[in-house]
Amino acid sequence: MTSVGIIGSGFGGIAVAAELLSHGHHDVRLWERGDDIGGVWRDNTYPGAGCDVPSPLYSYSFAVNTQWSKRYALQPEIREYLHRVADEYGITPRVQLGREVVSAHWQQDEQAWDVGFADGAVERVDVLVSAVGQLSEPRLPALPGLEDFAGDWFHSARWDHDVDLAGKRVAAVGVGASAIQYVPHVAEDAAHLTLFQRSANYILPKPDGPLPRWWRPGIRLERPLWWTFGEQFSRGLDEGSLVGKVEQKAALAHLRRQVQDPRLRELLTPDYPIGCKRILFSNNFYPTLERDHVDVVADRIVRVLPQGVETADGTVHEVDVIVYGTGFDSQDFLSSIDVRGAGGEPLAERWTDGAHAHLGMYVPGFPNLFVSYGPNTNLGGGSIIYMLEAQARHMRQVLDRMEAGGYEAVDVRPEVEAEYDQQVQERLESSVWGSCDSWYRHPSGRITSNWPGSTYPYHRRVRTVEPEDFAWT
Ligand code: NAP
Repeated sequence: MTSVGIIGSGFGGIAVAAELLSHGHHDVRLWERGDDIGGVWRDNTYPGAGCDVPSPLYSYSFAVNTQWSKRYALQPEIREYLHRVADEYGITPRVQLGREVVSAHWQQDEQAWDVGFADGAVERVDVLVSAVGQLSEPRLPALPGLEDFAGDWFHSARWDHDVDLAGKRVAAVGVGASAIQYVPHVAEDAAHLTLFQRSANYILPKPDGPLPRWWRPGIRLERPLWWTFGEQFSRGLDEGSLVGKVEQKAALAHLRRQVQDPRLRELLTPDYPIGCKRILFSNNFYPTLERDHVDVVADRIVRVLPQGVETADGTVHEVDVIVYGTGFDSQDFLSSIDVRGAGGEPLAERWTDGAHAHLGMYVPGFPNLFVSYGPNTNLGGGSIIYMLEAQARHMRQVLDRMEAGGYEAVDVRPEVEAEYDQQVQERLESSVWGSCDSWYRHPSGRITSNWPGSTYPYHRRVRTVEPEDFAWT
């Protein structure tokens, strides 16, 4: 039986493991560097952490969760759900916790991967699945003096719960999907909160609310409706689309309704078309910013001093605690692991100008390497779980075919990957991301994070394996 090693036990890793185990592939192990499964839903414990995808849609199709207590579930409930799935699908005993993969070298003679760990151990598997996520490495801003700050400071994805914010002066740097969730909570405790905003965001209202027990069958009904909504919502990401214009109007109307102060309103009005950066959802973020003890500073931060943060106008904002909600090293993909394919070629070198892979999953010259949530598979709308499941099904079919045909290795043909990549990049040029800057874009200019469009076309594209796209050895 083909042995499979999966790096990571977040939504991606668990999707692949569940798919393989339910289809007779039992030689499956998962390596998890953390002390628990869950990926980002283990790491992001900031106050108010939750999902901005409606919960009826935010579960696997093979394990639809009808027990969500809210229409937008919070982190503890999502983490508990993942544990339940891992238990039900026999995944939990296959997860090796505290095992950090540092290298993976393809062994041509053995047609297998030698996987190296931080403790020096090496394990051999036939097929290697990377499920390390796109948003797992927190990124701190490159600000002079960051380490010199005399008070407490931490990144939002590594929230330090030992730091009591009550009565403190807090600086929150960055306004993204994470910050808009914790800022209202921090403002409840802090004596003063200064929010440093580099760019404003489009924020839409969030139709949140409790999901009572009697509505559990209704969650199944809501699921396709939210999926359809997500597909239509994604149309707004095509450059100049009517849907995008409607979304933009709705977001600006939400801003006008919730923020009365004209100066603040102006600061919070984005200067780019909707969709360029992730569209956010919140009912309590804007009202928080109008509270007397909350300030928004749009001036650029130039450095961090022991006593606070200095902005370009020379003002020193004295604070006791700094929270960095400055996002993730989204362009990293697998770069924290030394992956070497056929002939010892480093994957990092192949991806110097940005990551690319056939269907986001297969890299020529890197046989038997399957990448979950790889290049150009992130979304601007809809649920990533749908994409992860589609990928897991494709990978399982490749494995089925390997076993049925007695093949030891599978490698995508370079010309197939190149053509796919060209199509994706062309399509991205007509999306809203084609003309603006965001973390979706590699410094080389390539958009490497996002899939262009809605999720169904991707699902259709990866529904079956095209055998001629691969070389089977
Ligand atoms: P993010 O969206 O990347 O936001 C980072 C923020 O930090 C941005 O406002 C950015 O400004 C700012 N920033 C970065 N470097 C800075 C610097 N040197 N000085 C000042 N500001 C700086 O990060 P995030 O909020 O953690 O979210 C990341 C992603 O995680 C989301 O897009 C989403 O995919 C995922 N997420 C999802 C959920 C969910 O509910 N499903 C919740 C949280 C996060 P600019 O905009 O100017 O770059």
